[in-house]
Amino acid sequence: MGNKKILIIEDEKAIREMLRFALSSADFEIIEASNTAEAKRKIANDLPDLILLDWMLPDMSGIEYLKNIRHNNQLQNIPVIMLTAKAEEESKVKGLDSGADDYITKPFSPNELIARIKTIFRRGVFVAPDNIIQFHQLKLNVDTHETSINNTPITLTQIEYKLLHFFLTHQGRIYHRSQLLDHIWGVGHFIEERTVDVTVRRLRDRLRAQGYDVYIKTIRNIGYQFSEKK
Ligand code: CA
Repeated sequence: MGNKKILIIEDEKAIREMLRFALSSADFEIIEASNTAEAKRKIANDLPDLILLDWMLPDMSGIEYLKNIRHNNQLQNIPVIMLTAKAEEESKVKGLDSGADDYITKPFSPNELIARIKTIFRRGVFVAPDNIIQFHQLKLNVDTHETSINNTPITLTQIEYKLLHFFLTHQGRIYHRSQLLDHIWGVGHFIEERTVDVTVRRLRDRLRAQGYDVYIKTIRNIGYQFSEKK
């Protein structure tokens, strides 16, 4: 995977330069725009992996632009971190309500920002514009449920698909068997916890040929975790 591309939309030149310097040093590729019009032009031929969006912009407020992003098929799943000079709780809530993944208040330390960006990328799952969830070479089409690894189709039962989808969208967290039952089989099920083990085993079997079974960890006496760490 190449370097992640980050689009900075910020009208203050000094902050843009600081960001470019800090993020380039962290091996991110940078696209810069000083307003939303310029951002739109640049996005048109170069989709970013993440957007840093200033709250106060000259041509349109960051929050308005964020709403546009979330209503645009091509852009809606790109993570957005809002940069805001306003520390008020209200702005934060408004930003997160409008679909920001995170926000950071100016002045901020570049290291903190980089840590937040990495956290978002570590989640590892991006629903691409064509509704594909991708984890390395594992692809899940959320519309058709088609699943493949390295372009080799993987046949899953409906429950295996649901479990895999859940794991991919909740990476790194440990789930008790009972929690997995609630999430996958639904609350009010009459299923024994042993069923989780059986389904996990089957899912691992399906992923094994491509070596992706290793990401599903058994957490002793608790349950399971889908984790990037091998
Ligand atoms: Ca500004």
